[in-house]
Amino acid sequence: MYTQKIAITFENHKQNVQKMAKIEEIQDIVVQTRRDILRMVHKVNSGHPGGSLGCTEFLVTLYNELMDLNDGFDMDGIGEDLFFLSNGHISPVFYSVLARKGYFDVDELNTFRLIDSRLQGHPTTHEGLPGVRIASGSLGQGMSVAIGAAQAKKLNNDPKLVYSLHGDGELQEGQNWEAIMYASGKKVDNLIATIDLNGQQIDGSTDTVLPMGDLKAKFEAFDWEVLEIKEGNDVQAILNGMQEAKNKTGKGKPVCVLLHTVMGNGVDFMMHTHAWHGKAPSDEQLATALEQNAETLGDY
Ligand SMILES: [Mg+2]
Repeated sequence: MYTQKIAITFENHKQNVQKMAKIEEIQDIVVQTRRDILRMVHKVNSGHPGGSLGCTEFLVTLYNELMDLNDGFDMDGIGEDLFFLSNGHISPVFYSVLARKGYFDVDELNTFRLIDSRLQGHPTTHEGLPGVRIASGSLGQGMSVAIGAAQAKKLNNDPKLVYSLHGDGELQEGQNWEAIMYASGKKVDNLIATIDLNGQQIDGSTDTVLPMGDLKAKFEAFDWEVLEIKEGNDVQAILNGMQEAKNKTGKGKPVCVLLHTVMGNGVDFMMHTHAWHGKAPSDEQLATALEQNAETLGDY
């Protein structure tokens, strides 16, 4: 009995150590991704660092731990989970996460926003960048696409899930609410749509520009399953919350995750403000920001 107890305790300890190692591994990718974002945007003096930094923990965790992905890339993505980025302006984080995951060479991050690059300011498909399945940046359209892809998976008897990410300011676009109504009406229960709830958008706080009220109540009124991740920049909280979201799929309702994030997270002077929504750091600011995020996996 006593031996059995020691064995169980040891097993728990082993699991905790493995869990911590996994989180440290994800955290290393997070920090490197932050450096990629900052260096990409700085180099061309253009792009969107604020929202990118706010969603870094989420996207790194999603791609490296949560999604079930095939090796290689094809547009159909049959038999694997799919992700659609609706707030396409946060392309720096998306490109870095894809490159670090091995979809394309990290050196290509050097071409961000250059003419003829596959890494345009807003993701597009005709450049053929692996990992990108829709052009996005015209806000409000990703919800409809994700719902359509989720329905296609059902028609193909493909049990995998569809994930999507949307800005909170983006929900002011009317097309979202038509799609949200449709998804519950058609029982699209293989979709997890995450809202980046940073309370900011291009011109100021979402409450100043156009208050959206209680989003949880609104999604619930549209008959969605809703859960919140209060610490949306904490890897463990993301892992727990998204696992819970996964558990809620397949039960007749689409799932919405309200992810509370800090815009500009990880760089002290960029945090908690919309000022860095679409602004590049100066040489000095870049140096300070990089000091706060020491190289982990190696710069491109
Ligand atoms: Mg926002």
